[in-house]
Order: sequence, then C-alpha cells, then structure tokens
Amino acid sequence: MTSTHAFWLAGRQVTGEDTFDVTSPWDGRLVGKVAVPDDEQIEEAVAAAYAVRDEFAATPAHVRAAALDHVSRRLVERTEEIARLISAENGKPVKWARGEVGRAVSVFRFAAEEARRFNGGEAQRLDTDLGGQGRLALTRRFPKGVVLGIAPFNFPLNLCAHKIAPAIAAGAPIILKPAPATPLSGLIIGDLLAETELPAGAWSILPVPNDRMPALVQDERLPVISFTGSEKVGYAIMDSVPRKHCTLELGGNGAAVVLGDWASDEDLDWAASRIATFSNYQGGQSCISVQRVIADASVYDRLLPRIVAAVEAQVTGDPGDDRTDVGPLVSEDAAVRVEAWVKEAVEAGATLLTGGDRDGASYAPTVLTDVPADTTISCEEVFGPVLTVQKADGEAAAFAAVNASKYGLQAGVFTHDLQAAFRAHRALEVGGVVIGDVPSYRADQMPYGGVKQSGVGREGVRFAMDDYTYERVLVLTGL
Ligand code: NAD
Repeated sequence: MTSTHAFWLAGRQVTGEDTFDVTSPWDGRLVGKVAVPDDEQIEEAVAAAYAVRDEFAATPAHVRAAALDHVSRRLVERTEEIARLISAENGKPVKWARGEVGRAVSVFRFAAEEARRFNGGEAQRLDTDLGGQGRLALTRRFPKGVVLGIAPFNFPLNLCAHKIAPAIAAGAPIILKPAPATPLSGLIIGDLLAETELPAGAWSILPVPNDRMPALVQDERLPVISFTGSEKVGYAIMDSVPRKHCTLELGGNGAAVVLGDWASDEDLDWAASRIATFSNYQGGQSCISVQRVIADASVYDRLLPRIVAAVEAQVTGDPGDDRTDVGPLVSEDAAVRVEAWVKEAVEAGATLLTGGDRDGASYAPTVLTDVPADTTISCEEVFGPVLTVQKADGEAAAFAAVNASKYGLQAGVFTHDLQAAFRAHRALEVGGVVIGDVPSYRADQMPYGGVKQSGVGREGVRFAMDDYTYERVLVLTGL
C-alpha cells in the first residue's frame, strides 16, 4: 500500500483525510498519495507566517545561511533518490532529473552566499543640495512581507527552490504551493528544511487545489506573489490583485538564430546537436526550449539535414532508463494537444520532416518547415518536442523573425562575430540573449525572466531577493 505524503504546515508535517493521487505519466502507476490541507490548516499556515515575519527578518544572516547550506548539502546526499522521484512523477528522463537536483543544490548554495552579503546598505550624503547640510541617508532592504510562491510542474524541484531559497535568504516567510501533477519533489524540500533551526512559521509547503487558490491569492497578509507557470493563469492572478507585487515567469517560444558566419561543418554539427537536444529536452516542456530555428539562407540547406538527423538520434522511451533522452509529456492530454497543433500546421501547408506520432502521453520528436505564420504552432508556446525551421535573408530579417512573437523570454544566436553579438543584444526583445548556444541555457544565479507576454520581474537568486524586499531609507540629521 502506498503511504500518504504529508504536507508542511509552519515547519511541521501534517497529514489529513483528504488526499489526491500522483501518477507516473509514463506507465500510469501510482507514485504517491498526497494529503490536501483544509481551509483551517491553510489559515493556520498564513497566520503563522504573518506572525513570524518580524522575527524572521531579524534572524541573523548566519543562521539563515547555515540552513540554506544544510539543504544544499542534503540535496547532494539524496541526489539519486530525489532524481528518481522527479522522474517518476514528472516523466523526465532520470539523467535530466539528476541535472535538476544539481541545479537546486546550486540555488540553495547561492542563496546561502547571498544571505551573507545581502542588505549591506548604502550611505548617501544629502548635502549636495540645499537643505541637506549635516544629513546622511542610509539605505537598507527589508522584506515586503510573506511571499506566496506558486510553482509549475516542469522543474518540480528547482523551480520550488527558486521560490523558497531566496525568501529564506531575504528573511521573508513563504507559503509555497507546488504543482498538482508533481507535488512530491517540492515537498521533499520540507524534509530538509525541517532539519534546520529556522523559526516555525517561516515556511510552509501546501499542495492547495487550484480551485482554492483564489482565496490565498487575495489574502492581504501575502503581499508578494511569485508565480511561475502559464501565461493564462499568471495574468489572471495579476489582474485579480493589481495592488500586490507579482513576479510572473511565464511561457516562451524560444528561437535559435544561426547566422551566416556560423558555417563550418563543425559549427553546423554543434548547432544541430544543441538544437536537437534542447528542443526535446524533457519533451520540450521547458519555457526556454528551442521551438523555432531561424537560419540564414546561406547555411540553411546544410543545417536542416543535420538537425533532422540529430533529432532522429534522440532516444525516446522509459524515463527511468539512463539511456533515455526524451520521455513522455506530463499527461496524455498534453500530447493530444501537441498532436492537434502539428496536424493543424500540416493541413495549413507545413512540411513534416520527422516525427508527428503519438503513443499515449509520448509524442515523437518532430521537425516542421514551411509553417504558415498564422498557425497555432507558430504563434503559441508548444511545450512539446516540436521544432519549426525557417530561412531568413540576413541578420536583420532573422532578428525581426525572433521579435515577431508575443513572447520574449530568451533567444540564442550562433555567431562568431562580436559586433553581431552586440547587435543581437540590442535588437532582440527578450530577457536574455545567449551567444554561441541555444536559448535554453540558464545559470541559476543570473537574472532570468521575460518581456512581452513572457512575464514581469526577474528570478535568479539575488534578483528574486530584490523582488521580495524593498529599500527603506534612514535619514540622519545633525551630523
Ligand atoms: P500552470 O499555469 O497550469 O500552473 C502553474 C501553477 O499555478 C500550478 O502550481 C497550478 O496549480 C497553479 N494554479 C493553477 N490555477 C491557479 C489559480 N487560479 N490561482 C493560483 N494558482 C493556480 O502551468 P504549468 O502547466 O504547471 O507549467 C507550464 C507553464 O509554465 C508553461 O507555460 C511554461 O512556459 C511556464 N514556465 C515558465 C518558466 C519561467 O521561468 N518563465 C519556467 C517554467 C515553466
């Protein structure tokens, strides 16, 4: 019999009568049963976080840093077990799941480092203008209050880490809500935090059902909402609480541009291999996976067959097998949606070069060309293992094609030309430009987030800490 996983309420483990099932998208087996908090328990968690906010903000930095370092070390020790859990509940190939645990290890370590150096403050002389004689302004950052962190299914451990670690580093209590399909990886963070000396109430991890989230979103004791997920849900949250601070990390349809100077056989092999890997990486279910390739006309004919060959070399199958590159999507519904979008594109005139088959929740790595600009797959985030390849006449046309999207998360530009790199940085309407690689590169300490419909605000440990805190000035007189 599968035991019920407890949730974390103000630092302690709590189970309940009401549970939901977490199943594997690969074979449908039951991975775990998770207890659902009732309204009273949710209220208890919020009240505890609200009550502890001054105490937590005043907790010495070395205590918070030690707790974060502890979680980082424990994640290292439990890597294999946690990677297997991510793979089971999410369908992510276990080799990628190990990489995700490694990233969460870094996120907690970065947060410990930032906790030690954050809030150093700034002194500003005020006698540079009339009336400022003898006055000095000291600035420090203080938490805005309790953070409500809402995480998606696709990086079920690391995106929970990106909510909770910066909150602890900044001294802000947090209520974390993991995704319903993948709550177990987020709840594991609670196992590790419970081994630390952080004040009770500073953190809760609550798998609240979606239909009970609006009340939590509206709660005035939670002034900061850090949301990662879909455009639809993210903007609905922000519109419902216009006076709250909302960070929205939303979708994208990442483009990889290959410019004309990226032309040797070695260059094109490397680009094709990176594109094939990162359009299929965890079934394309990454907000910065490669969805579009925009290749200069001078290299297009030599690049395209290389991409198709590299995509066909991806090993599909059981996510628990070390050899697997591409596992199932998160659900059969997700694969059915991807199948419908590809069908629509082909009916509108697109050419299917490989893939296009579905088996349950699994969708074959797919490459399309000649895709009309008004098809769903051209306009929306596919969140599946589907790549479209198009030709561009020169750099300006390629950059314009990247920008012809409602999204703007990251873009990759394959070029050796330093000037072109700076032109790309200036021209591309995205939160990050990656030169010499795909848009899917993310280092967890760098600022990360989108423009346009890809969201508002930045994550990356220190940048999330900036979001969770505000500058409060202290003016000293008579100096
Ligand atoms: P989703 O929007 O369906 O769900 C995200 C979270 O919101 C889940 O925890 C869900 O339970 C919760 N939620 C659903 N309804 C809610 C409501 N009414 N109020 C409050 N919370 C609610 O997204 P998903 O399917 O889990 O994730 C996929 C999406 O996430 C994709 O669009 C992807 O691009 C995006 N994403 C973005 C980033 C980024 O950093 N930009 C990273 C990963 C994923």
